[in-house]
Amino acid sequence: MRKTGSTWSQEIDARTAAMTSLRRDFHRHPELSFQERRTAEIIAERLHAANLEVRAGIAGSTGVVGILRGDRPGRTIAWRADIDALPLTETLEAPFASGTPGVMHACGHDGHTAIAITLAEILAARRAEVPGTAVLIFQPAEEVLGGARPMVEAGVLEQPRAEEVYGLHLTTQMPAGTVMVRPGPNMASADSILVEVTGRGGHGAYPHLSVDPVTAAAHILIGMQHLVAKEVSAHETAVLTIGQIVAGTKNNIIPATATMRGTLRTFADDVREHIVRRLPAFAADIARAYRAEARVTVGDSRCPTVINHERQTAFVRECATAELGPHAVSEGTPVMASDDMTYFLRARPGCYFRVGIAPADGHPAPHHAPGFEMNEAGLPVGLRVGLGVMLNALEA
Ligand SMILES: [Zn+2]
Ligand SMILES: [Zn+2]
Repeated sequence: MRKTGSTWSQEIDARTAAMTSLRRDFHRHPELSFQERRTAEIIAERLHAANLEVRAGIAGSTGVVGILRGDRPGRTIAWRADIDALPLTETLEAPFASGTPGVMHACGHDGHTAIAITLAEILAARRAEVPGTAVLIFQPAEEVLGGARPMVEAGVLEQPRAEEVYGLHLTTQMPAGTVMVRPGPNMASADSILVEVTGRGGHGAYPHLSVDPVTAAAHILIGMQHLVAKEVSAHETAVLTIGQIVAGTKNNIIPATATMRGTLRTFADDVREHIVRRLPAFAADIARAYRAEARVTVGDSRCPTVINHERQTAFVRECATAELGPHAVSEGTPVMASDDMTYFLRARPGCYFRVGIAPADGHPAPHHAPGFEMNEAGLPVGLRVGLGVMLNALEA
């Protein structure tokens, strides 16, 4: 018979207010990838206070791990949370809105951190009933897809050796009170794309005496959309987004170069490989039509598809259903967002599930938008399912 977190309901209820204000504190003080010093300090302090064994200063100094050894025999299971914020200026007006202009928790990682700390504190408070060893992993720099790999390489799954790894991502795509648990591919792979267009600068009034890289870049950008539409099967998926264009200094100067940065998202390896292989010649050929040159670099920060393991996913689904009832649990659909949780799931079997935080009414702003806002009613739901998953997985 599975143990449900509901037997621990009082703990969850008693700590929900504190968890929410902890989330608000992180929200008020967001920190960018690999700069999460205050956040990491608070995490380490709280874990110390709960009498966990704490390792700090991992993965470029802001990764933290808390190890909790239960009093009963059991397995060793890891829980992973990410802790970083994004380079955005928040538009929400609330007392806990970001106090740092240009930095904002617009993805919910403040919530992930608060949930994981509270999870650790609950397990610690009832250590006598806890089987096995829980490894609570707080990784920096998910938003640049750079924090997970150094954590894994630092051996956070090795000492002690975790058998499985679990974690959650909050999402405004589903209402608070619901959970999505999906086996197999869940989140797309991500590649960063750099397109450098070189022309020849000159006066804006005499374009015929120059080679205009801005016009060439514009055509490359439009053309890239057709690369997806016309060279990827309609049964497959790919997204190619240019999120940054940098060129020029003044309205009437034709610059010498234009630079575009973007991201490629796919699920199937052969689709990714096709686009990665095609892009350089494709961009160069378009540039040549405009007498310019283009060079494409596909970044080395590739993040592979997030794939949930069948058995562990069925297990999470069972736990979530026990906690919330069958109507609150669905498979959901794969999303084009990426997440470096994939490096943990490649190292150990496990499951990354999603927890709804959409408001009961209205249209939520998407993640990574300056108006992003979470329905905090989703926080105790995530905690409840997380606790159920950990308690049952730890049981030998
Ligand atoms: Zn994000
Ligand atoms: Zn995120």
